[in-house]
Amino acid sequence: MARIDARTLTRELLAFNTINPPGMERACARRLGAILEEAGYAVAYHEFAETRTSLIARIGGNGARLPICFTGHIDTVPLGAAPWSHDAFAGETDGDRVYGRGSTDMKSGIAAFIAAAVELAPRTARSPGVMLVITAGEEIGCEGARFLADRQLLEPAGALVIAEPTANYPYIGHKGLAWFEVETRGVTAHGSMPEVGDNAIVKMAHAIGDLERFRFPIESHAVMGKPTLNVGTIRGGLNTNSVPDEARITIDTRTVPGIDHVHLCKSLAALLAPRGATVRKIVDCAPLYTEPDHEWVQRVFAACAPYSGGKPAPKTITFSTDGSDLKRGFGGAIPAVVLGPGEPKLAHQTDEWASMDRIDQSVDLFRTLMRDWCSV
Ligand SMILES: [Zn+2]
Repeated sequence: MARIDARTLTRELLAFNTINPPGMERACARRLGAILEEAGYAVAYHEFAETRTSLIARIGGNGARLPICFTGHIDTVPLGAAPWSHDAFAGETDGDRVYGRGSTDMKSGIAAFIAAAVELAPRTARSPGVMLVITAGEEIGCEGARFLADRQLLEPAGALVIAEPTANYPYIGHKGLAWFEVETRGVTAHGSMPEVGDNAIVKMAHAIGDLERFRFPIESHAVMGKPTLNVGTIRGGLNTNSVPDEARITIDTRTVPGIDHVHLCKSLAALLAPRGATVRKIVDCAPLYTEPDHEWVQRVFAACAPYSGGKPAPKTITFSTDGSDLKRGFGGAIPAVVLGPGEPKLAHQTDEWASMDRIDQSVDLFRTLMRDWCSV
């Protein structure tokens, strides 16, 4: 079995243009699948749309306990308008840094768990086992993970490591994300006779005022802090000399465990109904959280301590992940941590890079977690 060098694999993965949209993850997914098959993994590909390929790879499974799962997404965000000083696809290195779109978020994380998974394959083949879920379409609404969960393509796992960029600090979850569209309707009229019309923008202005008074059912979470609400966009009116008959806003809420998004939608609708506004949920990603005193989380913390300047304190990360959908697909309450080599501050940025030392550290960490879980 050829050993996989995670630095080299990161650079190889950067050469696949998986910018989403359009994504086109198939070639990248097939390459990873081939590596894993050669190492003895059983690999299944699942496409939620043409060329939008996720893969699930499994090894072992002796029934002693459920397998440990590592996950990552192979799509990336676009390059942005600003010019890059390094080629975004060539895997250029400078000192400890490897540059490229997806270096931090999160092809380095995938390369690290694949390197560990391939190296340990001969041993984990006769153990509770390792499952790797590599998704397409994460950057726009977790499409790949949602597809796997909705179609019940995920067999149960016992613990989940989401290798998103955390600079190898183990985070125990993230807030949920629920986006809503609010619409008001009115009656158009000539701008010189507003009294015969019904102004949808004025209604919306009142609705936005009401949102300032909105209170979440849970004010604060011990680790995540407060849920938030932000009005992100506003649109309405066709021209200055007409009474607008339609206005829309979108709202971004970030929620904590215990806030149900269906209930949240109903609460917002009830608050804004007196203004004639209707509310519709447009994006939905549940919070992800594992209690820090969970036995496996404590083992993860112990493994990360050498890289975190001491035993990690319980923290959650600001971005959301595939973890929520995958956990649902695994059928419930399994422990999950967000832990990967990328630099969280560099995700989605121009001149994104990853530290190659951290990639090597991640391989060590992931190897430790796999061996610990599988007792090999
Ligand atoms: Zn990501």
